[in-house]
Amino acid sequence: MSGFVFPPPPQPAAAVLGSDLRFPVRRIFCVGRNYAEHAREFGNDPDREPPFFFTKPADALVPSGAVLPYPPLTADLHFEAELVVAIGQGGRNIAPDRALALVWGHAAGNDLTRRDLQAEAKAMRRPWDMSKGFDGSAVLGPIRPGATPPSGGIRCLVDGALRQQASIADMIWPVEDIIAHLSRLVALCPGDLIYTGTPAGVGALTPGQVCRVEIDGLPPAEVTIG
Ligand code: MN
Repeated sequence: MSGFVFPPPPQPAAAVLGSDLRFPVRRIFCVGRNYAEHAREFGNDPDREPPFFFTKPADALVPSGAVLPYPPLTADLHFEAELVVAIGQGGRNIAPDRALALVWGHAAGNDLTRRDLQAEAKAMRRPWDMSKGFDGSAVLGPIRPGATPPSGGIRCLVDGALRQQASIADMIWPVEDIIAHLSRLVALCPGDLIYTGTPAGVGALTPGQVCRVEIDGLPPAEVTIG
């Protein structure tokens, strides 16, 4: 006998720019503190830390345009505008100069964070899972195919007001270095997403607000907080 004791869950997937086909999502990795000004705004020294990673479940994905109910057990839901890398080819121990060969495309994303729960976790030296990996925590715009990362501006607008503004070039660890580091920790696989960290200026969202992440050359990632 084969089969499942109940129907398997649907495959999480992301929209693709200019196509009806969808990108099947396997895992979601996220980089902490990848812009110097954002590291400093939380009291960290950006010059002395290698990149570190945390994860979200693949089914935490929220497509651009969705209405997300205000998440439970927080009073401080924060936006984090981020470039997202979509991996199309797996590998481990990838050298930086080979890393972009693994990339399928790029998207704008929002690493939604229950900041109050994260502060509590940091203070008590507990994991970040419940502050970062909650339901609906990974907003993602359509993926633009192509291995070359965007190099222009990244912005976050809340109800049309500019809240974060930086250049992708401001990242401490560029995409190829992130892939190289992460591929030494885990074997990367097709379908993996990497949220590459947020610039300075993160802040809170309240019910009814519209949060839009823009990256030059990519479709936006927009979410309305219900
Ligand atoms: Mn982040």
